[in-house]
Amino acid sequence: MSASFPALSSPLQIGPVTVRNRIVSTGHMTGMIAGGAPNARFAAYHEARADGGAGLIITESAAVHPTSNAYNIQLTDPEALAALKETAQRVRATGCRIFGQLGHGGRETHSGIDGSAPPAFGPSAIATERFHIMPRAMPRPLIARIVQAFGTAALRYQEAGYDGVEVMASHGLMLAQFLNPRINVRNDDYGGSQKNRMRFLSEVLREIRRQIGQRLALGVRISGRELSAQGLEADEVSAVLKALDAEGLLDFVDLCGGSMTDIGGSVHVVPPMNLEPCYLTPVSKRIREEIALPILVAGRINDPRVAERVLTAGEADLVGMTRAQICDPQMAGKATSGLADSIRACIACNQACIGHMQAGHPISCIQHPETGREAEYAIKQRAEAPMRVMVVGGGPAGMKTAAVAAERGHSVTLFESAPELGGQVRLARQLPGRDEFGGLVTNLSREMAMQGVEVRLNTFVDRALVEVEAPEAVVIATGGHAYTPDGLLLDEAHVLHASQVMEGANVGARVVIADARCDWVGLGIAERLARNGCSVRLAVNGYMAGQKIQQYTRDRWIGELDRLGVGIIPYARLVGADETSAYFQHTASYEHMILNDVDSLVIATGMANDTGLEQALEGWSGQVWVVGDALTPRTCEEAVLEGLKVGCWLGEKRSAALDLAYRLN
Ligand code: SF4
Repeated sequence: MSASFPALSSPLQIGPVTVRNRIVSTGHMTGMIAGGAPNARFAAYHEARADGGAGLIITESAAVHPTSNAYNIQLTDPEALAALKETAQRVRATGCRIFGQLGHGGRETHSGIDGSAPPAFGPSAIATERFHIMPRAMPRPLIARIVQAFGTAALRYQEAGYDGVEVMASHGLMLAQFLNPRINVRNDDYGGSQKNRMRFLSEVLREIRRQIGQRLALGVRISGRELSAQGLEADEVSAVLKALDAEGLLDFVDLCGGSMTDIGGSVHVVPPMNLEPCYLTPVSKRIREEIALPILVAGRINDPRVAERVLTAGEADLVGMTRAQICDPQMAGKATSGLADSIRACIACNQACIGHMQAGHPISCIQHPETGREAEYAIKQRAEAPMRVMVVGGGPAGMKTAAVAAERGHSVTLFESAPELGGQVRLARQLPGRDEFGGLVTNLSREMAMQGVEVRLNTFVDRALVEVEAPEAVVIATGGHAYTPDGLLLDEAHVLHASQVMEGANVGARVVIADARCDWVGLGIAERLARNGCSVRLAVNGYMAGQKIQQYTRDRWIGELDRLGVGIIPYARLVGADETSAYFQHTASYEHMILNDVDSLVIATGMANDTGLEQALEGWSGQVWVVGDALTPRTCEEAVLEGLKVGCWLGEKRSAALDLAYRLN
């Protein structure tokens, strides 16, 4: 048992199952399901977290019936069953336990196998807001078939060697819809009273027990608060759980938050950085006081110190630390073996985990791109030919390159012209609600230190210095500089670049932000200036502000801007400005758009890559590589990923095809 975290490290009995500690990777979609079956990455991904010390892994939802979403695991598929078997075997071999999720989207069923919209069934014919679905009220014979299907699906998990199952009544999914009197207006015995509204869920749980007996642990996942316009409230959830507990149907309760039904509620499905850590524990504490079952809680818990406090305060019995383990697969083991200081903390950016999944790609992590790429990058091979490597630039790309190259046995020195490390992250973390972004620098700095990278700050690198240092390879990670497109008519206007504003430049009282990037920069500057008392209009060259960032992060931010009175104008291409007005063109109609009463125009037009060192090193005899924004400006995710790749490729005799984009000579 860890001296640091005795509660977190202690085992727990959940029905027939003992878990070795209280750290759980909760069910989350991995983007590693193809045609209803987990692909080869799936087992490797979960095994890495199990091997890293997790007590319990809950794998993502399986659709229990053909009337649910096609993108979930389809348990009737023999290939899916084989993949789950392999996953269970590999996870259990580490001492970790594994549960599976059983779900049905109900009226939130929006994805058919061929991309068409299937018929959706809900408790009643009430339209959904976020996915714009009009469901059909579920006929009673279909309810009966789905009840039976839940039981059969649980049996499949048993065949696959799983230790338990949880039924999803969370996030506004089908069983939650039936519980909700605003969505369930049926007048049969599945609607009306609470007893009737929870009949479907009770029947499902009883059927699962009938089919699997007491052999597997059985729980329910439910949003303690759905936090959406018509969502379930804490009192309603509490009443349901008390009734289920009284029936003796459950071994545990898994509490989360949010609902996929509307935009505000869906933010809580994977809460972004600007929500408070642990914000759901008041609900879990209440439920834990009301029922005598193990309670699992999730929701912005990324630090074992915080998790320990949740447990010792009696707020829960198990802690969902899912993104914490996406970011650091060994987080649990580090926490329970006294190595908490070496944990790479998740910063809740949502970019490469849920962001990837929603874009149809396997999940990963901006700080740990090895996630989802376990087969290629989890194990770092010693370099075939160790070299002296000079990394130029102390932003995310340079730091990751340096850490990985040093881990592989290269002798690495990192040079940074500024007095501190971080590059663009130093600016990003100064925006409201983004201070956790600075964790990326803290984490990468520690990784460099652990691998013995020498860091020289306040050192500008030119060819002369390279020749003095005489490394065998230079990796250029110098980032970019503020970019302003040619052709803008800005003569008389008070114009600032976004980077100047982030560094603290003064603006007038009435500000227009011309956001050509649709990322975090425009949103962050708008929020900061509005909080400072400016009147702000955010004109974006895109369909919506924050179009390029993960939707929960974006939607939470847009909600904040709305509260602050920021006006958002989409489809706006900047063409010029004068002393009092900013001139735009509508990007669809090409008509003029004029914004008057403007004191300052802030242009968020992104970066251009720096090529100075690249040009200076032309003809130099050593290897020259380039990564991150110095290659082409993108985001931290690509910067860190390219650092990983080049760190892994340095000193390898690889095909030119692999390093064509990154190796300059
Ligand atoms: S991408 Fe961001 S939110 Fe997701 S696991 Fe990594 S650090 Fe956490």
